[in-house]
Order: sequence, then C-alpha cells, then structure tokens
Amino acid sequence: MSTTADLRPHRGRFAPSPTGPLHLGSLVAAMGSYLQSRHHGGEWLLRIEDLDSPREVEGASGWIINSLESHGFEWDQEITWQSERSKLYERALMHLGKTGRLFACRCSRRTLRESGSAGRGTPAYPGTCRHLGLRDQSGMSLRFLTRPGDVCFEDALQGRICEDVARECGDFVVRRKDGLFAYQLAVVVDDASQMIGEVVRGCDLLESTPRQIQLQQALDLPAPAYIHLPLVVARNDEKISKQNGAAGLDDARALGNLIAAHRLLGQEPAKEKDFDSVADFWAWAVPRWDLKPLLGRRKIAAAGAEVN
Ligand code: GLU
Repeated sequence: MSTTADLRPHRGRFAPSPTGPLHLGSLVAAMGSYLQSRHHGGEWLLRIEDLDSPREVEGASGWIINSLESHGFEWDQEITWQSERSKLYERALMHLGKTGRLFACRCSRRTLRESGSAGRGTPAYPGTCRHLGLRDQSGMSLRFLTRPGDVCFEDALQGRICEDVARECGDFVVRRKDGLFAYQLAVVVDDASQMIGEVVRGCDLLESTPRQIQLQQALDLPAPAYIHLPLVVARNDEKISKQNGAAGLDDARALGNLIAAHRLLGQEPAKEKDFDSVADFWAWAVPRWDLKPLLGRRKIAAAGAEVN
C-alpha cells in the first residue's frame, strides 16, 4: 500500500487545460504554485491536461508553454501530457472495478437534471443506476461509487474543508459516455504517479478536492497537501477565465505581467524598473514568498483591491 512517504515534499505542478492562452488568472495560479515549490527548494512540474479533446483549442498547448517560458518559469522533468497516459487511467479504473467501487450508468444529462436532488450548484447524482449492475458498453459512463460521511482536509490557506461527497455530489463520473477519462480520475492518478507533495491551485477546485481524496483512498494512493489560492475575479465578481474571454497574456510584456500577478498574490510590491530581466525578478521573488497575505482569502479583484 502507498503512503505519504511516496510523495516528494514541496514538489508542485501546474496543470493547465489547453482551452486557451495563459491569462492573468492562470498566471497567478502558476506563480503561486511555482513560488511555493521553489521557496522551499522543491521541484515543479508542468502537466498539460489535454484529455478533454472536444474542449481543446488548437494550438493552445503551444501558446501556454511559450508563455510560461517567456515568463521565466523553469520546470523539472519533461512535460507530461495526459493524452499519453491512458494506460495508467485504465489501470485505475480496473482497480476500482475489482474493489466494487465502479458502475456503468446510462443516465443522460437531461434525465439527471430532471430527477436531481440536494447538492450545491449542480444536483447530486440520485443513484439511479447504482444497483442495476449494467454491463459497460458504448454510450455509457462509468461512475465512482462514493461512500457516505464527511471527507475533510486541512488546506494551508482555507483551513479545514469538509464535504459529504456522497450527499453533496453523489457517485461521480470517472469515464465519460464518450469514452474520455474524467478530470477527477486523471488528476488523482497523475498527482500520485508524479509524487506531487503539494497541490497549489485556484479555489475553483476546492469542492473537487474531497472527491479527489475519496478517490485516492479507494485507489490506495497518498493524499498530497493542498493549498487553494484565491481566484482572480473581474468587476462582476466572476472568475476571470478563458471561458469568459479573459485576454491572453502579451509575452512581450512578461516582466510587467509577473509584477502584476505578484501584487495580486499580496506579495511585497515591486516595480518593473527594479529588474533587468524575468530571471532577475524570480531571483528576487523566490526567497520572499509568503503565504500569510493570502490566508483565508477566496477572491482577489483583478484591479488589485481585496474583495474577500
Ligand atoms: N486542468 C485544470 C484547469 O486548468 C487544473 C487542474 C488542477 O490544478 O488540479 O483548470
């Protein structure tokens, strides 16, 4: 059985989905994760989460990688591509199947919407196919059979977070109807196989974490430490994201972008003229990284003012 000893302390990662160029919000997440690892002398890996081919934007992986390079990020090891790791995900599904934690589901999104119960946001899966013993065939999804009871973890910034996954979310999809592996499964498998000791990412994934922890437990995988950074939001309080048209970063203005992201992270203010290069900026920022200004914060206004 795996233990937390299998994880590398302070080994972090940035795991963008190639759905558009890097923008200020994703730069903030990448920077938080990078500084947290480097400040503690840990490694930092880059993983492209390119499983969701229908949502992928052609060329986006290249833009993201180029942008990270222009901004002076340096990753250890080769870049990992989720699209090349199907065997690992398949093996994890087999493990879940053998241990009775997987079932085939034929529900459509529409039937679920109509029959959905409780749950924050999207309704929890009502368990429709849970005990039907359906044979997995094309057009069906595979769901993870969740267990009732609170799943809790201690987030270094957000404190203790608990969720009764079975009640709030219900049995969730780990292989989609279209045959693609779901994010929750892939991320858990990859974080463990890459020995990620510390997952630093945006608060938009806070509610996914108890689900991921329950999956880790079912797969006998160790749980990394979690640090959920506040989300950069626009004036209307919405997360700035590729989906709502956040502008891609101008790589020619890398130093200015780094300084803006660093300020949003509540760090010691800096001015562009203080640095000769992006490398110069990182050499200054790494030893000064401090999580304290971010404690308990869920949002940061893109304009720089604290909104929460
Ligand atoms: N690929 C996810 C995204 O771009 C991030 C996954 C993670 O950090 O766990 O939103």
